[in-house]
Amino acid sequence: MNYNKKTVKDMDVKGKKVLLRCDFNVPMAKDGSGVITDDKRIRAALPTIQYLLDQGAAVIACSHMGKPKGEVKPELSLKPVAVRLAQLLGKEVIMAEDVVGPDAQAKAAALQPGQIMLLENTRFEKGETKNDPELAKAMASMADLYVSDAFGAVHRAHASTAGVADYLPAVSGFLIQKELEVIGGALANPKRPLVAILGGSKVSSKIGVINNLLEIADTIIIGGGMAYTFSAAQGGKVGDSLLEADWEEYANDMVKKAQEKGVKLLLPVDTVCADAFAPDAKSQVVAAGEIPDGWQGLDIGPATIKLYCDAVADAGTVIWNGPMGVFEFPAFAKGTEAVAEALSKTSAITIIGGGDSAAAVQQLGYADKMTHISTGGGASLEFMEGKELPGVACLLDK
Ligand code: ADP
Ligand code: MG
Repeated sequence: MNYNKKTVKDMDVKGKKVLLRCDFNVPMAKDGSGVITDDKRIRAALPTIQYLLDQGAAVIACSHMGKPKGEVKPELSLKPVAVRLAQLLGKEVIMAEDVVGPDAQAKAAALQPGQIMLLENTRFEKGETKNDPELAKAMASMADLYVSDAFGAVHRAHASTAGVADYLPAVSGFLIQKELEVIGGALANPKRPLVAILGGSKVSSKIGVINNLLEIADTIIIGGGMAYTFSAAQGGKVGDSLLEADWEEYANDMVKKAQEKGVKLLLPVDTVCADAFAPDAKSQVVAAGEIPDGWQGLDIGPATIKLYCDAVADAGTVIWNGPMGVFEFPAFAKGTEAVAEALSKTSAITIIGGGDSAAAVQQLGYADKMTHISTGGGASLEFMEGKELPGVACLLDK
């Protein structure tokens, strides 16, 4: 896939109406009060929005929220987003009552350069997730140019993430530009050695990532729950740890493939195991493959921490996806924290992909020490799998 895409800076946007796809799928309070509990995604969209407004464009912003499945669900309205966005921009955000209906059309037609409006939740339209050309055409008809800045949605071929590009010139905003530069750069032409750290809960959800990174990385480090499937595959005792027995053969194949390719594959040498899946469980450190019955591995052990931190010390690039343990429990966050700290100290390009990994790095206080934390959970995974991203492929090449 070509990652070298035109951006807003390559276009003359003055006096143009710009349909801007954002990722405003923000978490809302469960009580239906319309309170946004984390406005990070709205803030992340500000640089592109501000640039377009400063350049004299009229911005028609749009986004999905949640899964209304083609029906109008008031609790999934983007109205609270418009209110927050207006506060952050310090200017009026005109809210449309629909996506491509009469209200949106009339407000878009009246929109002046330097003004911004927000369409309703794109998934209120049945055609959105089906990538219906009629819906895409209707959205496109309101604008002169399409700018995509919703990296979190580029792995979906929906009307507002990809379909509209059939009817309008399409370029990226600054968020997607950075994702393509940093992650795309690391995949296509990494500063070596390239070390991939892969953890999280399941091997089965990371197969695509492991497969792809085996082709390009110099070292692969395995941690988190998936390590126990590798351990069991090699005859280790894993007690009650997370285990995907169906994937043991695959795990052995990966070890063999790494050997054949000369990729260094590191597995845990010790583990912190607990007598229950609980924050206050009793715990002990045991050698990998020697977890007693009734115990489960919830973190990598101290010897493994040292091994893994040494392995990233002289890296040129580190790609990290998947926590090393159950970081949500402070007692079992040490492995994840040690790796985050090691990354914060290297001179390597450090890239964090995956929703929980990004949350872990943020929660542990290392976010501003990383080169790049991807804004897309599922999208960053598919990116690392080497898959074509429809919302990127549809943008104009440089
Ligand atoms: P990401 O979202 O970054 O791709 P995953 O979703 O694959 O990461 O995995 C994150 C989850 O894996 C976390 O909720 C974490 O608690 C869990 N996890 C990590 N190690 C273990 C383990 N040893 N046992 C059970 N769960 C684990
Ligand atoms: Mg996850």
